[in-house]
Amino acid sequence: MSKKDDIAEEIPDLLYDANTGITYRKLRFFGKGGFAKCYEIQNTQSKETYAGKIVSKKLMMKNNQKEKMTQEIQIHKSLNHKNIVGFKSFFDDSNNVYIVLELCKKRSMMELHKRRKVVTDYECRYYIHQIVSGVKYLHDHHIIHRDLKLGNLFLNDELHVKIGDFGLATKIEFEGERKKTLCGTPNYIAPEILNKKGHSYEVDIWSIGCVMYTLLVGQPPFETKSLKDTYSKIRKCDYRLPSNLRKNAADMIIAMLQSDPEKRPTIDKLFHFDFLSSAPIPKSLPYSCLTTAPRPE
Ligand code: ADP
Repeated sequence: MSKKDDIAEEIPDLLYDANTGITYRKLRFFGKGGFAKCYEIQNTQSKETYAGKIVSKKLMMKNNQKEKMTQEIQIHKSLNHKNIVGFKSFFDDSNNVYIVLELCKKRSMMELHKRRKVVTDYECRYYIHQIVSGVKYLHDHHIIHRDLKLGNLFLNDELHVKIGDFGLATKIEFEGERKKTLCGTPNYIAPEILNKKGHSYEVDIWSIGCVMYTLLVGQPPFETKSLKDTYSKIRKCDYRLPSNLRKNAADMIIAMLQSDPEKRPTIDKLFHFDFLSSAPIPKSLPYSCLTTAPRPE
C-alpha cells in the first residue's frame, strides 16, 4: 500500500461530530491543498451540504503543522462576513481534524483565470469590489490574511467571492505591531516580507494589486521561470503594465504595487479609486462568465 492510499483509507464515509451529535456523509472529492483534502459533505439529517476540509493528524504532526492549524481554526471561526468562507464547525477523531466550511461549488478564481486568462474591466470591478469588502472586514477585525491569491478566492453558486484558507493569517495584537515572521510561502509575497523588515496590513493590499493585475493582464506581474528571479523582480518592483490597460485600472494597480508599504492605500481608500467608484458595481454576473466574456455593456 502506498503512502497516499494509507492516508485516503483513514477518512471514513461518515464523519461524526461528537460535540453536536451531527453526522456528515462524505460525498465527492473536491481537491487537495498542501496538507488538506477537501470533500463535499452532507449533514445526514438536514441534508445541507458543506465543504469538509480534512487534515490527517499524522501528516500534521510530521510537518509541525499543529500550531498553524490551531491558528487557522482560531482565526477563521471568529469571522462572519458575506465575502469570507463561512466557518460552520470543527471536530476530530484519532486520525483526522475535520473543518466544516461553507461550500463554494464554483471552485476558485484560479480555475476561472485558467479558463479565461483575461477578464473584462466590468467583471474585474465585480470581483475586486467583493475582495476589497472581505479584506476590509478582516482588517477591521485586526486580521491580515497574508496569502490572498486566486486559489484562495472561492466562488459560490451565485459567483459571490468568498475569501478562504486562513493558514497563513495572523492577528495584529496591538496598534502599530509589525509581524517579523511568516512560516510558509505566500504566492503574491510583498517585498517587506522578503526583506524581513516587519510587515502588517499592507501586505494584503500588495496581494490585491497582484490579483487585479493577473485578472486584467492574464498573468501575474512578477512571473518568471524561477522563484529566485521572481523574488528579485519583487524586490525591485520590476513589472510592466501593458499600454492598452485602461487608465483608472492602471492607477489603482500602480498604487497597490509600491515597494514602500506606507505609500500603499489602506483598504478603506481602495473603495474610492475611480476604477471602483466611477460607475455602479455589477450586482451579479451570468454563469457563462466562468468560460466566456460577457457581451459589452
Ligand atoms: P490547503 O490549506 O491545504 O492548501 P485549501 O484550503 O487550499 O487547502 O483546500 C484544498 C482544496 O479544497 C482547494 O484546492 C479547493 O479545491 C478545495 N476547497 C477548499 N475550501 C473549499 C470550499 N469552501 N468549498 C469548495 N472547495 C473548497
